[in-house]
Amino acid sequence: MRLGPSRAALIAALALPSVAAAQAQHAHVHGQAFVDVAVDGGLVEINLRATAQDLVGFERAAATPEEEAQVLAARKAVLDHARLWQFNAAARCVAEGPVLEVPGAGKAHDHDHSHDHEGHDDHVAHSDWTVRYRFRCSAPEALSAIESGMFAVFPSLQSATVQVLDANGAREETLTASANRLALAQ
Ligand SMILES: [Zn+2]
Repeated sequence: MRLGPSRAALIAALALPSVAAAQAQHAHVHGQAFVDVAVDGGLVEINLRATAQDLVGFERAAATPEEEAQVLAARKAVLDHARLWQFNAAARCVAEGPVLEVPGAGKAHDHDHSHDHEGHDDHVAHSDWTVRYRFRCSAPEALSAIESGMFAVFPSLQSATVQVLDANGAREETLTASANRLALAQ
């Protein structure tokens, strides 16, 4: 039997995508969003993670009334599910309330995910926002695609790495402003 090495190589090759995915889960990359889409019958769950840099325009605590207004506008924009996620109409999907998590919200000069710093007051803390959306589709057999408006709403986003789980199984897709449609299987 000389299958040992090739079997080990196969296992290593199979292991790579999950390692890459796990690393992507923790990446903080300006210009890139990370999205999970799970379709289970008539239930569609979407998890969006993006940097405050892309959603708000900065990652430190708001320091002026203008910056506070920018934060409020970003919160409103990420909760606007109808602009961000458009299902093909025949599937008749309606949203249940999205949930927004903002690290450090309400705290001054403090972020949960700040990088190392050495006590300088002017250090830049990196932060991500996470938004969970949930939709119920009353004609799930007709569900065929989701279009994302995120690149129009947040122009500094260049791409989104999407982990999809639907009737075809799990796969990774990349969305951009010019390829913002995600095909789904039921
Ligand atoms: Zn950052």
